[in-house]
Amino acid sequence: MGKTQHYEVYAIRYATREGQRRDNFIGGDPHDGPMPMDYFVWMVVGPERRFVVDCGFTAETAARRKRTYLRDPVEALQLLGVHVDDVTDVVLTHLHYDHVGNFDRFPRARFHLQERELVYATGKYMRHPFLSRSFEVDDVAGIVRLNFGGRVVFHDGDAELAPGMNLHLAAGHSAGLQFASVETQRGRLVLASDVTHYYENMDSGRPYTTTLHVGDTLESYEKLRAIATSPEHIVPGHDPLVMQVYPAPRQELDGIAVRLDVPPSRSRPTPPPAL
Ligand SMILES: [Zn+2]
Repeated sequence: MGKTQHYEVYAIRYATREGQRRDNFIGGDPHDGPMPMDYFVWMVVGPERRFVVDCGFTAETAARRKRTYLRDPVEALQLLGVHVDDVTDVVLTHLHYDHVGNFDRFPRARFHLQERELVYATGKYMRHPFLSRSFEVDDVAGIVRLNFGGRVVFHDGDAELAPGMNLHLAAGHSAGLQFASVETQRGRLVLASDVTHYYENMDSGRPYTTTLHVGDTLESYEKLRAIATSPEHIVPGHDPLVMQVYPAPRQELDGIAVRLDVPPSRSRPTPPPAL
């Protein structure tokens, strides 16, 4: 029997924006009110290898898209002891602007991506602003260039990156969206990324407004649950509650980062009933 690898997992909050509940569910929401959105990058630290999961957007993109930029996500990795020159593996859950924007700042990394995401981001649907607005064309072109440089590792479905660190295709929000599952001391944790933006999308079965395929999105919620040890082991991609329920790794990182491989230190408030 091989020894189980346990990873430490962190979320770093790098941006935020105001929003209303109706913005975050297809068909709106009967209990309209404020529902802000946070933006994260994640880091998975193992005994031998570590993985950066997504790389956020740039200050320029934040200004153009009117997001509140709290900190540079790549510099923030250093607060957790990681220097970009040492990063060898970056997981790109998908190619939307808020997940890929700083790809060019990891000089040694290879990038793990589902092949169908790049097909989507360079294909016929990008003629339509409704879908292309979630991408920055320079990011997509940049990933194409990285591929010509041999630095993109394409996956087609689920893949093991290292013992206890796996990727899972879960399309719907985007054509080649993937999430990561990570073995930790508290069980199998799922970094859902945009498979579910908020706990509530998944819990109420109501997809976020930016959705390529509703049916695939609903199936992908089930995949999250099938792989995580429990629903409390699923970490949504944009929910401010993540910063509230998990503890900071150390006091000076309060409000900046949380540690996800330890149990939540607070329980989640109950959301209003879906209908
Ligand atoms: Zn996102």
